[in-house]
Amino acid sequence: MLSNEVVEAVYDKCDGKCRYCGKKLSFSNYGLYGARGSWQIDYSRSRMNGGTNHMNNLFPACIPCNQEKGGRNGKSYIQARRAQNQHVPTPEKPCLWEWLFG
Ligand SMILES: [Zn+2]
Repeated sequence: MLSNEVVEAVYDKCDGKCRYCGKKLSFSNYGLYGARGSWQIDYSRSRMNGGTNHMNNLFPACIPCNQEKGGRNGKSYIQARRAQNQHVPTPEKPCLWEWLFG
């Protein structure tokens, strides 16, 4: 389990939006399936693939994006979304800088 401090920091680092589709997330609906703006913490590199609990591996994601992403890493999921002409937020936030330059 991640501490509340970590959950808050992850939410804030992408300005309370899904890293992958840019949808606004509701902080209080963290982990609540079916709730409006519900979201999860995405392990950009999955734990199965050696991903860590460090902030640079954690991103806020809406539940549909996180489920669709599955075991892929964040970068491949973003590339897949681009290839399908699905919306990806413009790289103006630190969460995306990490993707571009990390
Ligand atoms: Zn999303």
